[in-house]
Amino acid sequence: MKREKFMVAAIQNGTVIDHIPSSKLFEVVRLLHLEEIRGSSIMVGYNLKSRKMGHKSIIKVSDKFFTDAELNLLSVVAPNVTLCVIRDYELVEKKCVTLPDDIHSIVRCANPKCITNNEPMPTRFHVIDRNAGILRCHYCEKEQLLDKIKLTEPKS
Ligand SMILES: [Zn+2]
Repeated sequence: MKREKFMVAAIQNGTVIDHIPSSKLFEVVRLLHLEEIRGSSIMVGYNLKSRKMGHKSIIKVSDKFFTDAELNLLSVVAPNVTLCVIRDYELVEKKCVTLPDDIHSIVRCANPKCITNNEPMPTRFHVIDRNAGILRCHYCEKEQLLDKIKLTEPKS
């Protein structure tokens, strides 16, 4: 497989999350709980020049392989990211994220009267239109556009 040329130092083994819109970098960090990872080096390239996107951000996490479920959460904030699995400096797998049918806990409901904004309970949304990116709250049925969503506050 062709070796890719990266602007951020290569990792021996791990995951590269590429083509992150720079404005979404910190949400990606949060969704993958990178701040809680111990024993892995994490390299972040912020606002790099990209032919495809103008500017992009990239995260490299060494010795860490995420599950598809973890990675698919990223589709909520950055649907066009590319994930590269690196083993022994080689790109062994490249994948895209897919929006799950149901989104639990991570998205905040835009309706202030929604029970999820007033009780300590996780949110739940159904993706009702993939192409238009429309989510509907399971509890109050309020619909919101994926590119307008806010994430729930991190648990303290
Ligand atoms: Zn709601």
